[in-house]
Amino acid sequence: MRDRKRIHCKKCGQAYSKIAWSLLPIVESVGATEVRAIVRGWPDGTSVEVRRCRRCRESIPAMVTSAPVASGGAGAGVARKSRLQLVR
Ligand SMILES: [Zn+2]
Repeated sequence: MRDRKRIHCKKCGQAYSKIAWSLLPIVESVGATEVRAIVRGWPDGTSVEVRRCRRCRESIPAMVTSAPVASGGAGAGVARKSRLQLVR
């Protein structure tokens, strides 16, 4: 589950957290409208950004949501709390 939040370089396998990845130099940014032209049913407000791997310089694409995450963030906090209780 934790792995799904990480972005992996497909060439060297380097894993980045969403924040670490967002600090990498950007190569290209594809807006939702452009992706929709290729991918049917692409979610609104979701774009694709391509950034350069710090280790091997391979391009790493990842989805970026521009929608507010206030409610989702609260939900994630609750999920984390219940998991901690399970560990104890
Ligand atoms: Zn790499």
